[in-house]
Amino acid sequence: ISEEDPIKKDSSVRVAVRIRPQNSRELMDMCRICTSVTIGEPQILLGSDKAFTFDFVYDCSSKQDQIYDETVRALVESTLQGYNATVLAYGQTGSGKTYTMGTGFERESDDVKLGIVPRAIQHIFAGIEDFATTASEMSPANGNPQFSLAVQYIELYNEDIFDLLDPFNKNTSFKIHEAANGQIEITGASIKPISHPQDALKFLQQGALARTTASTKMNDQSSRSHALFTIFVRRQRLLTPTNDALDNDLETLTSKFHFVDLAGSERLKRTLATGERAREGISINCGLLSLGNCISALGDKSKRALHVPYRDSKLTRLLQDSLGGNSRTLMIACVSPSDRDFMETLNTLKYANRAR
Ligand code: ADP
Ligand code: MG
Repeated sequence: ISEEDPIKKDSSVRVAVRIRPQNSRELMDMCRICTSVTIGEPQILLGSDKAFTFDFVYDCSSKQDQIYDETVRALVESTLQGYNATVLAYGQTGSGKTYTMGTGFERESDDVKLGIVPRAIQHIFAGIEDFATTASEMSPANGNPQFSLAVQYIELYNEDIFDLLDPFNKNTSFKIHEAANGQIEITGASIKPISHPQDALKFLQQGALARTTASTKMNDQSSRSHALFTIFVRRQRLLTPTNDALDNDLETLTSKFHFVDLAGSERLKRTLATGERAREGISINCGLLSLGNCISALGDKSKRALHVPYRDSKLTRLLQDSLGGNSRTLMIACVSPSDRDFMETLNTLKYANRAR
């Protein structure tokens, strides 16, 4: 891990597009493929004449490790240097968000198929080990950094917060709180210390189980809610002691990495929404809509200084300290290759395009 900023300062939001393979249903129905990737360029072509260029474009043959290495690895390293980072998976239901993030309930038996979050967990622990062996050589006068890690896993549904690591806690009213240092906290939501990758994976699975259990009861809630898995990193070390031995400087860096599996982006009218379901649809769109507005404002240098509308939804409020500023953000727009999803794919690409 190098001490220099691993990511260019001027691009706080990066966008990747991933096209999933056709599923067996689409193959059986002989759906046509309407997406292609321009060779040698991060450009996706939809139909014959709609071309979009992003920071990264991945075809249906792309593998989990390639996506991790090219888009997320540097973000994890910046988290160990004290920067916040966020990875957001966006796209219609069934487009590969959960597969890409690796936050499904089924524990992947095949390491090749592991998604982003389990890889990031392994990488964070490996990165800390590296620090332990190289930091003392780099600055022998300073103490070795000590790391402490913790995780949180919450779900946002209808602008309500659920604690996926304490799913039976129905009494708490969660509040989003901005601390004096600008850090956003959720009062009432549990934070679990972790000291081993297995701890984190256990909480990831526990949360995924809480999510699927709730969703079978509540009409596939999981496709209409946002799930936020957060890893908190605290790094502390003693700096070179001064003459006054009592006045040792303790350097503390804190950062967090949000992994967000967003609600399905399919539009309200396709869910034939009425009554309660209309309300759900509206508030989900409210989160996705204001996320789009925030990310678009962040990408626009002239607008950025003026106003980023974080306060318009709980989702953006929660991410406020982790989007923009010194934070690194990656949006992965997941799309289907099949012609029957053409309009949803077009909408997803347009949404992702606003982030650039
Ligand atoms: P979403 O979370 O967007 O609703 P999923 O991640 O659940 O979508 O993906 C839907 C289905 O497609 C799952 O069965 C998943 O395993 C499969 N899938 C998605 N992306 C890929 C991929 N890149 N390679 C192989 N299978 C995939
Ligand atoms: Mg999903």
